[in-house]
Amino acid sequence: MADSDNPKKAPATQAVSGGRRKQWTEAVVNPPVWRASTHLYDSVEDLKTGLKTNEDGRFFYGRRGSPTQWSLADALSEMEPGAAGTMLYPSGVAAISSALLSVLNPGDEVLLTDSSYDPSRSFADAFLKRMGVTAHYYDPMIGGDIAELFTDKTKAILMESPGSLTFEVQDIPAICAAAKKANIVTLLDNTWATSRFFPALEKGVDISIIAATKYIVGHSDVMMGAATTHKKYWTKLRRTAQQLGQVVSPDDAYLTARGLRTLEVRLKQHEASALTIAHWLKDRPEVGAVLHPALPECPGHETWKRDFLGSSGLFSFELSKGDEETRAAFIDALSMFGIGYSWGGFESLALPVDPAKYRTATNWTLTGPLVRLNIGLEDPDDLMADLAKGFEAYNKAQSC
Ligand SMILES: *Cc1c(COP(=O)(O)O)cnc(C)c1O
Repeated sequence: MADSDNPKKAPATQAVSGGRRKQWTEAVVNPPVWRASTHLYDSVEDLKTGLKTNEDGRFFYGRRGSPTQWSLADALSEMEPGAAGTMLYPSGVAAISSALLSVLNPGDEVLLTDSSYDPSRSFADAFLKRMGVTAHYYDPMIGGDIAELFTDKTKAILMESPGSLTFEVQDIPAICAAAKKANIVTLLDNTWATSRFFPALEKGVDISIIAATKYIVGHSDVMMGAATTHKKYWTKLRRTAQQLGQVVSPDDAYLTARGLRTLEVRLKQHEASALTIAHWLKDRPEVGAVLHPALPECPGHETWKRDFLGSSGLFSFELSKGDEETRAAFIDALSMFGIGYSWGGFESLALPVDPAKYRTATNWTLTGPLVRLNIGLEDPDDLMADLAKGFEAYNKAQSC
């Protein structure tokens, strides 16, 4: 919808101009917040016409959105080459569960990466199981060999690249090519890279999902999910979201669109600061592995170099000789890194993560505890000084 009627623009330009159609903005810069459940029709005839269409851009009823939501969806589609449309959801998890429900039926099997975001796993293991769908997990480094796991019941693959705790970069084009041959739908959790750094549909993915809560919102104050797909799955995705009653508030859509306008400059800064800090950490004696896709030791680094247009601000590192207690001493001593879930906001965060707990198809082999950092928009020198204080506390805890 958005893609074909616009000539190709650079990403920064798309982020600024996307979805700002004149009929939605009128005389102001941003599409206003249209709070509406009821749309009033001119006549019974007009009401009947409204029933016949099911597309964004036409008022029907509040659950189908207003220009505020359409504008955001439109902008996200425009930024994803090959997109037929985008559905919005009240969270990233809602986008993942609804997208899976749009393509799975009782009796089907679904493959998920062993590096999946934990709520994706629990949706598959609990909810999908209850509706008769079996989940199997695969090694994120599997590539085209994933075909060996296919049975005639395999109907969908949920990928996440890089994994958001452990950062393995998957060979998405190879997995998608194998899936396509077997008529299997591919879904990608593309939250880390966004379409800016990984144009998923172009790489062969059928449904690209992002937790817009992270980089699109960018300010840690809104929950939002989005799923973007090409023509083949668009109707299914849309119908399922509507049947499940998925709708986002115009206020949240407004704030998300506001975040989107600055996505390019924020991502560039997150990228630069995270790289500076990742390299600095690499040289610290306390640090073992640094799991950042742009660093050679990260599993799938070569694939990242081949497929990605950049790296964002989230990565993990190993405290080589640490344990749970000394890791806590490290994190507690930081004053510029908040301790909390989520990421992609302007403020830095540090989180203890324990991937071994979630693995079923592969073994987690690093022995030191992991810390995941969200590098925000503070000055990286200040952040490194703060991390140095963390290492001081860590070394002190180590020696007692
Ligand atoms: C946060 C996150 C989600 C879920 O998004 P919410 O908006 O918090 O529901 C999904 N995938 C990844 C990789 C995430 O980090």
